[in-house]
Formats: sequence, C-alpha cells, structure tokens
Amino acid sequence: MYTYDPKSLVADEFINHEEILATLAWADANKDNVELIDAILNKARPRRTETGVSCAGLSHREASVLLACEDPERIQRMYHLAKDIKQAFYGNRIVIFCPLYLSNYCVNGCVYCPYHAKNKHIPRKRLTQEEVAREVIALQDMGHKRLAIEAGEDPKMSPIEYILECIETIYAIKHKNGAIRRVNVNIAATTVENYRRLKDAGIGTYILFQETYDKKSYLELHPTGPKHDYNYHTEAMDRAMEGGIDDLGLGVLFGLERYRYEFAGLLMHAEHLEAVHGVGPHTISVPRINAADDIDPSTFANGIDDDTFAKLCALIRIAVPYTGMIISTRESQKVREQVIGLGVSQVSGGSRTSVGGYAEPARPTETEQFDVSDQRSLDEVVRWLMELGYIPSFCTACYRKGRTGDRFMALCKTGQIQNCCHPNALMTLKEFLMDYASEETRAIGEALIEAEMNNIPKERVREICGDHLSKIEQGIRDFRF
Ligand code: SF4
Ligand code: SF4
Repeated sequence: MYTYDPKSLVADEFINHEEILATLAWADANKDNVELIDAILNKARPRRTETGVSCAGLSHREASVLLACEDPERIQRMYHLAKDIKQAFYGNRIVIFCPLYLSNYCVNGCVYCPYHAKNKHIPRKRLTQEEVAREVIALQDMGHKRLAIEAGEDPKMSPIEYILECIETIYAIKHKNGAIRRVNVNIAATTVENYRRLKDAGIGTYILFQETYDKKSYLELHPTGPKHDYNYHTEAMDRAMEGGIDDLGLGVLFGLERYRYEFAGLLMHAEHLEAVHGVGPHTISVPRINAADDIDPSTFANGIDDDTFAKLCALIRIAVPYTGMIISTRESQKVREQVIGLGVSQVSGGSRTSVGGYAEPARPTETEQFDVSDQRSLDEVVRWLMELGYIPSFCTACYRKGRTGDRFMALCKTGQIQNCCHPNALMTLKEFLMDYASEETRAIGEALIEAEMNNIPKERVREICGDHLSKIEQGIRDFRF
C-alpha cells in the first residue's frame, strides 16, 4: 500500500512515486487496448453546450495510456483531437512574450544549467535599475508587452526586494507608445510572505519549473543549494496560492528524466492544484534540455526526439484543455511550427537569454542560460505566425481586468473567453503594426485584421472593436475587453 492523495499538501503524497509507477505499468498493460484507447479519446472530445463548449480533460492514468499507445492511426487521431481542442478554446490567436534575465548569480548546483554555483568561468551579472530600464526600452521598441522575468537564486544578489524593485521599474517605463503590461515571474521557490509581496506588485503568472518529478533524480540533479529541497520546491505552488497568486505556471525540463514519468507527474501536479485550490495551472511550459556554456545535452540520457515531443504536446493539450501551453526559442522554427498546431498557445519571440542582452546591438552569448535555436526577430516571428494563419496577440487583458484564477477558469471552461481573446488579439496586433512592424509585416497584418473582424460573432463586440481599431490609428492605445 502507498499513500497517494491529490488533496494532500505533502509533495510525496500528491506526486506519489508508487502511483506514477503503477500508472506507467497500467499504461503499458493497456497500450494495445483499442477499446479503452478509443473510449479515452472519445471522453476528451470537445462538446457543444448551451453556453459554448466544454471538455472533460483526462486523468494522469488515462493520458498515460494514450502516451504509451504506438498505433500510428490512433496517434494521428490524438493530433486531430489536440487541434480541435485548441481551436475550440483558443481559436487561432497565439500570445507573444519575451524573457528578461535580471541576474545570473545563483547559489544552486543544478547540473543542467550554466548558472550553477560551481561554474567559475561564466561572467556573473546583475542588472542595475538603469540597466533594467535600458532592457525594457529595447523590448518596448521591439513591440513587446508581456515579459517573463528570470533570475538565479541568490539571497544576497537577488533578494525579493531586488525583484520587486525591478518589477516596479519595468511597469513604470513608458517609452514612446510602449509599455510592459504584464510581468510574469520565474524565480526560485519562496515563502508565502514573498509570494504575497509579488502578488501586491501586480505580477501576472508565477512560473516555477519542477525540472523533474522523480525525487531521486531531483536530488541528484540538484546536489547543492536550497533548491536541493525537493519538497519545498514541489510544494511552492501551494504556498504561492496561499500568498494570493492564482495564475501559476508549471513545467518540466524534458530530457532530465524518463518523459513518461514526467508526463504523469506533471498531470498529477495539475490535478493536485485543481483538487486543493479549485484552479488548475494557468500555463504549462515544455522546455527540452539544450546546450549552453558548460552544459552538453548529449550527457543526459533521457533526451526525446521531435516526434515524441510533438506527441507530448498534443497530449498535454488533450489532458488539460484549459491550460495555456508555452514554447520558447529553445526550439527551432520547425519544431515550434509543429507544436503550435497541436496546442501551444504562447510563444516567445526575439528572445535573448543573457543578462542584459536586449540593449546590445548583437546577441551576446557569454551569459546565455541556453542556446537560442529560433533567432528570428520579433517582426519575423509575427509575420511567420500570420503567414501560418494565426493571429499574433500582445494581449495582457485578463489579469488587468481581474480575470485570474477561478474567474478566468470559469470563462475559459465554457469557451467564452474567446469573446475577449479574439478582439484583444486584433487590437494589440494593430498596435504592433502601427508602432513597430516592418512594411511587409504591416501589409500582411492589416489584411489579416480585416478578414478576422468577420470572425467576431457578436455584432456589438465587432462594432466596439472596429471603433477601437480606428482610435488606435489615431494614436490612442491600450484598449481591451
Ligand atoms: S536552473 Fe535556476 S536555480 Fe538552477 S542553477 Fe540555473 S538559475 Fe540557478
Ligand atoms: S483575453 Fe485573457 S486569455 Fe485571452 S489572450 Fe488576453 S490575457 Fe490571454
């Protein structure tokens, strides 16, 4: 007997090792059970309701059976289903964001990250507030509105006060028509009190990657520093909720451990948040380990190929339909293109993963956290998305309208959020086109907006959106539903 309890607040009980092993064994035993697989696929289908659309999602056990299934025809059905779910809840908008590295000082020993404390040759850098301002101006001049700030863990060099000061600086800068309207925060696990301070500072999502859910591996991969404490790290999202942050971003670093184990653990974490707090994760990120400074990804035995990665992305979309999925520039244009079709709803663009990289004319590499695969400019990424039939969106409306946590989920679960996402995508794209786009991008974007106006179902919303688009042309900014 073992203790698995999604409602427990103890990490080993809500991410229970024996339950994961039992899940994987059950998935193996049923990977050719076509009746069960078809029933699971059927359960996950989006269904029309009186108020819109709804999706049942899948448990970690059900989703793990689909992941184990090797039947090509059924895998294709999974891909189609993921596309249908994505279309039903997210439409064709893709939200754009960018990471901002504040500091690479770190006291931890994560063996997969070049910022680990034992790396003595990597230059260490922490942005001053003047440098933060320079970075933000450079990002605003590209057209960004939504950032994810990143910092290594170092109580002396980047304490919570430093992070809060940076957030204040970022929100305060209004350069030309630019503004950063949403700051998501990716910093080390911390206390309820510090989460409360982050909430009060007006952050969007709090993001913390689990890296791996396998406790034994976790302890080996994090040999030193406060991050070594698996339970403190794994229980961080519950403390964040207690501190009032109800938009939370999960993620594992695929490649560290066996992907099927991680997949089950990730879904159990989502189930735990739902069971305890009534709100699942706001986002799930899907980073794969890649090269950087003294990190060679080939030394990690659990790397996954592109097809497996695509299947994972599709199954996350099917299992947790209401959770946004994020892909960074770690991945190539080709891979990003594939997984955007399968469920990813947010992408980064024009990213630099070094501390202080945006204010430099050329991409500096000496303090990069990871190698950037997709090195295109934001303008190129925007154009590429439009050419693929997506609406690039710089929308940040929800948390600014108080639509977070369960309020957000209530709208999302009925598909009604689309009534906001779609016009907001058009209006924020229009801002980008007016203020930052190249001529070619602008021409494609204007035609796209004109065509997509017809896809706003409610006449009144269409009218208001049209009015706002005219006002944007006259120089007014920041409209939102
Ligand atoms: S992953 Fe984060 S905590 Fe670990 S070494 Fe890198 S910056 Fe530090
Ligand atoms: S309306 Fe809300 S859910 Fe939709 S894109 Fe904007 S912030 Fe995201």
